[in-house]
Amino acid sequence: MFEEPQKRLVSHLKQNGYIKSLSVENAFIKIPRELFVPLDLKQSAYVDTPLQIGKGQTISAPHMVAIMSETLDLHTGLHVLEIGSGSGYHAAITASIVGEKGHVYTIERIETLAQMAKENISRAKIANVTVIIGDGSEGLPKYAPYDRIYITCAAPRTPPPLFDQLKNMGKLLVPEGDMICTLMLYEKHGKKFQKRNFGGCAFVPLLGKYGHQK
Ligand code: SAM
Repeated sequence: MFEEPQKRLVSHLKQNGYIKSLSVENAFIKIPRELFVPLDLKQSAYVDTPLQIGKGQTISAPHMVAIMSETLDLHTGLHVLEIGSGSGYHAAITASIVGEKGHVYTIERIETLAQMAKENISRAKIANVTVIIGDGSEGLPKYAPYDRIYITCAAPRTPPPLFDQLKNMGKLLVPEGDMICTLMLYEKHGKKFQKRNFGGCAFVPLLGKYGHQK
């Protein structure tokens, strides 16, 4: 039922240069976005737009998930931290790219959303994701260090603990700013970080210790 709209979305993402690699394309083909959106929005699952998932939060637009996946240069075997699980869709895409030898830890501050993400991920039969409830602005020291860390909401600045929780040569991707923000990529080289700007974006705010005040 969703096969044609899903194919059309993938082709739109490729034609517009959001999907560049085969690994990201395969993940978008493999993971059914309709399993991650509320029942009444299933007809819009393959429209390239964010959708409401409850508690004032959204599942990110597919093009943003594609941009972030390509920018992070994800590949098999990586150990990844995602901050902001939401529906679990973005974590599922990442998990599909890093494969069975890799793992995704995703942390969500709203308990009901974390529970929903867990259920969605399990319904999609994905085994290499662990959903944790907590304040991701402090990272997740328990499973650090990570090859990749990314935040799926807008941070006033990159939370300092994340720099320590990244492996050497690792990549950290953060939308920095208010709702209208800038996608910043940090690459760790010993004690130094190379910083690159990947352009404007829009996200719900990161809350918590190193986030925006409510
Ligand atoms: N990646 C998600 C998906 O595929 O559905 C979309 C994430 S949504 C745009 C951002 C999420 O970040 C929201 O669910 C929000 O509750 C969560 N969030 C905000 N501040 C947080 C924090 N300090 N720790 C963990 N999650 C946080």
